[in-house]
Amino acid sequence: MVWYSIVAVRTAPTILHLDMDAFYASVEQASKPSLRGKAVVVGGLGPRGVVATASYEARAFGVHSAMPMAQARRLAPNAAYLVPRFAFYRSVSEQVTSLLRALSPLVEPLSLDEAFVDLEAGGAAWDAESARRAGVKLRADIRAVTGLTGSVGLAASKMLAKIASEKAKPDGLVLIEPGTERALLGPMPVRALPGVGPATNDQLRRAGIHTVAELAEAGEDELVRLLGKAHGHALYAMALARDERPVVAEREAKSVSVEDTYDVDIHDRVRVGLEVQRLADRCVRRLRAAGLSGRTIVLKVRRYDFSTLTRSETLRGPTDDPAVVRETAARLLASVDTTGGVRLLGVGVSGLADYTQEDLFAQAASAEAGNPDEEPEQEPAADRTAPAERRWLAGHDVRHAEYGHGWVQGSGLGRVTVRFETPGSPPGRVRTFFVDDPDLEPADPLPLVPSARHVPAGPEDTALPEPGDRTGERVPSESAAEGG
Ligand SMILES: [Mg+2]
Repeated sequence: MVWYSIVAVRTAPTILHLDMDAFYASVEQASKPSLRGKAVVVGGLGPRGVVATASYEARAFGVHSAMPMAQARRLAPNAAYLVPRFAFYRSVSEQVTSLLRALSPLVEPLSLDEAFVDLEAGGAAWDAESARRAGVKLRADIRAVTGLTGSVGLAASKMLAKIASEKAKPDGLVLIEPGTERALLGPMPVRALPGVGPATNDQLRRAGIHTVAELAEAGEDELVRLLGKAHGHALYAMALARDERPVVAEREAKSVSVEDTYDVDIHDRVRVGLEVQRLADRCVRRLRAAGLSGRTIVLKVRRYDFSTLTRSETLRGPTDDPAVVRETAARLLASVDTTGGVRLLGVGVSGLADYTQEDLFAQAASAEAGNPDEEPEQEPAADRTAPAERRWLAGHDVRHAEYGHGWVQGSGLGRVTVRFETPGSPPGRVRTFFVDDPDLEPADPLPLVPSARHVPAGPEDTALPEPGDRTGERVPSESAAEGG
């Protein structure tokens, strides 16, 4: 079922944007008491791996999401480096989503840790005061149920709600009062606006446009001249704080896709093949970052004469395996005539499943985890048949017959080091075992809040004091590894 907002232009700050703070890293810290207050980096541990999320402590060293893991290790050599546990992050994300759905039928998830909510549609808020109350209560409920912090932005549009949550980070709430939007946006750098990437930013800078106010002053004609009709028009509207996009709730996620336009048409068939492989890998990284998998692989090709073709293939089951996506995309490419040249290529995955195939993740990650300095990130097919249960992935949970629940701190040279602690325990002790110790077995993650009470979300509840509220400083915020 698809819901749309009815109110197109609203005057009350009743669109809420929630962004969990350093989500994957925060889940790991909540789960592992010895890592609280420490630099934690979650991501692919192979030589070509990238950072999925860095804790705020790791960000102090300059580590940020989408950074190559090798660079992160140079900046923060003593940080804890962990393999992502997407199935666990997804289960925590579902706890948060159910709190959002209690506020409104209009919840638009953007990723595992980000969503828009139309508070007005759910009757949870109708003006600034009730919106702030709902936001304060939501943050308290999230903390009670998951033990984690999320930042909340409230505004009359999606664009501003997202800007507000970024200003609120970490662990805060910012409400943008209607009427103050343009004054607030004016001094911001143009790249604060959605759709302004590095290339557009450069183009605008060369034209002497640095801030949103300068963007507005430049005028629509000038922006259209600089950036083309569609982009110039859209950017001008945003500079004036005009954004009427509704919150759209969808049960099914749409699709994940990436594409590249080339400055010069590609004629070389081998190069076209390599580009498609690269796009397939990028698409899978984005898919995984969202904790999703999909059944239909789509290839898009725009040829030299602007004719655009799409080819797709539907698999028997959902996948997030880069090898499968690469192979399928290559097969689809074989059916397209590219003589004459190619100006755009794209790879997408649709028919998304709302779960992640954790086993595929574990197996792909195990290839990286074994010896980060020597093992290539290539995932040979033979590797996938190896029993994953004897691979001890950094950060994953285990259970020992005598010492109880713990997590893998590291492994190598036939040994595995385990720290024995649980979300509710004090920081635990480390012990080392042989990798084939029969007393040691993989375990499921324990709940972050041992007896999470389910807090009913009712607008009549009293608002809690909000020490985290702020309206001023800008704090670096996390962004998805592949953007948008
Ligand atoms: Mg976040």
